[in-house]
Amino acid sequence: MVVPRVWRERVARYRMVGKKCPACGKVYFPPRDVCPTCHRESYGKMEDVELSGRGKVYSYTVVYQNVLGYELQKPYIMAIVEMEEGPRVTGQIVDCRPEDVEIGMPVRAVFRRLGEEGKDGVIVYGYKFVPDL
Ligand SMILES: [Zn+2]
Repeated sequence: MVVPRVWRERVARYRMVGKKCPACGKVYFPPRDVCPTCHRESYGKMEDVELSGRGKVYSYTVVYQNVLGYELQKPYIMAIVEMEEGPRVTGQIVDCRPEDVEIGMPVRAVFRRLGEEGKDGVIVYGYKFVPDL
């Protein structure tokens, strides 16, 4: 079922809300209930933290393959972005030509339509990254 999952994830999808471990201070996105480093010390104590949406390109790849839902955008850039708060997240970089992207480039998250999921045609929005120059 697509709808309940989208609904459950709505907070994480429309704002970048992660979880911060009160014991070691590490930030996780997507949110986790338990810090994999601190385990029991963090259980039930993980704190919501809203990410700024700003980060830097940690690594990237230009995808030339045709993927369902991305036909009009190929080639496209998939990157691992290291957020200001520490977590590394995977996302597409848009509004940027493949030849212009580079490691360390500042980017910020924007919310864009990602496509439709399932036979009910639920439109899913999520974050992508744009150059933050
Ligand atoms: Zn921790």
